[in-house]
Amino acid sequence: MKTGYVYDPIFLKHNLIGHPENAERLHVIQQSLKKANVWSEMHHVPSRKATEDELAYVHTKNHIKYIKDINTHYGGYVDADTYVNEHSFEAACVAAGSVIDLALATIQGNISNGFAFVRPPGHHATRSRAMGFCLFSNVAVAAKAAQKQAGLERVAIVDFDAHHGNGTQDIVITDSSVFFCSSHQYPFYPGTGHGSEIGQCEAKGTTMNFPLSALAGDEWMKRLYIEILTPALHRYKPELILVSAGYDAHWNDPLTNLGFSLTLFGWLSQTLIKLAQELCQGRIIFVLEGGYHPQAIGQGITNTVKALLGRDDFDDSLGSSTWQEPDMGSYIDDLKKLHAL
Ligand SMILES: [Zn+2]
Repeated sequence: MKTGYVYDPIFLKHNLIGHPENAERLHVIQQSLKKANVWSEMHHVPSRKATEDELAYVHTKNHIKYIKDINTHYGGYVDADTYVNEHSFEAACVAAGSVIDLALATIQGNISNGFAFVRPPGHHATRSRAMGFCLFSNVAVAAKAAQKQAGLERVAIVDFDAHHGNGTQDIVITDSSVFFCSSHQYPFYPGTGHGSEIGQCEAKGTTMNFPLSALAGDEWMKRLYIEILTPALHRYKPELILVSAGYDAHWNDPLTNLGFSLTLFGWLSQTLIKLAQELCQGRIIFVLEGGYHPQAIGQGITNTVKALLGRDDFDDSLGSSTWQEPDMGSYIDDLKKLHAL
């Protein structure tokens, strides 16, 4: 079986030199994957634009029109830190459409799993608003497409980017057919993601937030994945797992203050892949979100791709942080109680 990937040169045209979320990130990622001889091990899945009807699975018509129109007028900023240029709408449509097709390819059995090397990222884009470098929620669009186009009933989205996936949460907060779990520095941008945010109405219990103190590192995350996320996913029984894969929780990232190592990104990936094998025939797609330290994002993603290929020879040339992780206290027990685990 094959590990698939999507990539398209249009992603390089959504660019602003000097902005942390720039096209150079994709160059660095490809260089790292090629240097580690894993790029050629992956199977290319063709990219395509999402239609406006597909974007409307999760976004308002007004939001789609706003991004399309602002782009037509040669761009600018849609908020203090989210830029668009004349290529951004097309790049964002290709990002969402390509994630859909990568997910469908794993559902159809053409590939066993995959990584979507897409930009702009998506997990901060809400139903009606672009923010935090994100225009459309690539993972949420793909989750709904997997349901509407392939008949799946339950999809899980796991987000290990250092920032809360507020956009994805906004979209699925009342939708019990999509399980959402985000781990993130807290309090921090965008301000949401408290542990008590667990879903609303019939979807109460299908959203899970792991707010992390600054300096929290590998041991916190391992315990959360083993003691909370694993039993929660076994209870939910997803038919597909999508991962909002951000690498900005690395200790050397310039935008955040978490203490993850590169080896941890390999471990997290391996753990999620194993869960997909146990629960949903190995169907798992990683989708690029944040990550702003060139070496950390390059090697972090290489470790994820190695895990997708069934390897565990993870690289960690940057080593572990020297920070002391804060005491967890009753954190794990409180979360277990909250989620009846
Ligand atoms: Zn982030």
